[in-house]
This record gives sequence, structure tokens and C-alpha cells, in this order.
Amino acid sequence: MKLILMGAPGAGKGTQSAKISEKYNIPAIATGDILRGAIKEGTELGKLAKGYMDEGKLVPDEVVVGIIKDYLSTEACKNGFILDGFPRSIPQAEALDSILAKAGSEVTATVSIMIPDEMVMERIKGRALKEGRADDASEETINNRIVTYHNQTEPLIEYYNKSGKYHEIDGIGTIEEVQARIFSVMDKF
Ligand code: AMP
Repeated sequence: MKLILMGAPGAGKGTQSAKISEKYNIPAIATGDILRGAIKEGTELGKLAKGYMDEGKLVPDEVVVGIIKDYLSTEACKNGFILDGFPRSIPQAEALDSILAKAGSEVTATVSIMIPDEMVMERIKGRALKEGRADDASEETINNRIVTYHNQTEPLIEYYNKSGKYHEIDGIGTIEEVQARIFSVMDKF
């Protein structure tokens, strides 16, 4: 199972990828978490990523592709994985396809958790109070992330639709309701 979890910021990707990881016993790789970890540790990667993240922009493709390439080559990812927050642009999706193709593999499916833009703002403001993420604190950054999602990430819908790998589920509801919708799609693979 090589799954991509897509969705606007605040759609619930992190929460749901943890549930999927548990049920299917495959690791969840979240580029946002990896980048936040690098910022916390003060590494070169963190220093480079911070400016983009604080502005709600995408970190350059080659940087995140490099991270993913390293992770996917590990033993832990041999039997599958869930990508949470990657790919986020067409060049990233193409790079992923080429990394997997070199290993004689391919993406199994992309599941997109859909929520309306109004809900993005509301959910992220709620999360800011709990998690204290820097990029959740400013309304301007949240708006930039919504715009980035529409401009750079949404084209992936067509990209994965073309290969018949795209599945959409309604992200409105409780964690359990959304989880059940994702599992009902995944159980068919
Ligand atoms: P997330 O935790 O997935 O919401 O990601 C937080 C921020 O990290 C994003 O707004 C981007 O600045 C950066 N980021 C995470 N994943 C990617 C990616 N695949 N490509 C580029 N930037 C990313």
C-alpha cells in the first residue's frame, strides 16, 4: 500500500494518517513534521525551510523531494507507506513517480480529504491554540497556504485522476466518520 493523503491545510491529514498507519501497519511520512523537526534542531534544512513555511509558501521541490527519496529508500518503507503532505505540486508528483518507477513500483492510490476553505481557517485557528505551530498563528499565513493549495497542489487531482488513482472523501464530520470513509475506500485496494 503506497498511499498519498491529500487535502487542504487543516483537512485532517495528520490525524487520519496516524489511524491508517496503525490499521495497515505502514509508516506515515509527513514532510511538514520533518521540516518542523529540522527547524527545531536548527539544521541547515530547517534554516532554509523556515522562511517559506512562515510565509505559507512551499519549500522548494528539490528540497522536499530529497527528503522523501531518503525516507523511501529505508527498510521501514519496503512494504508500503502513507505520504502526508507530499506531493504538493506537479513536479513533486513526477519526481515521486520516477523514484518509485526506478524501484519497479508505483503509487497505489491518492485519497483526498475535502473540506471547504471557510472550514480551513476555523480548524487551523482551533489547532493553533492546541499545538502552537508558527504557521497557524497568522491569518495572512493561513490565507497564503489556502492559495498555495489551490494553485500548486490542486492540479494533482487531475494528475492522479488521469491514472485512475484519485479518490475523494468528504472531510466534514467527526474523526471517526472521516476515518470510516477513508477505510471504506482503502479496503477496496
Ligand atoms: P504541513 O504540516 O503539511 O501543513 O506543512 C507545513 C508547511 O511545510 C507547508 O506550508 C510548507 O511550507 C511546508 N511543506 C510541507 N510539505 C511540503 C511539500 N511537500 N512541499 C513543499 N513544502 C512543504
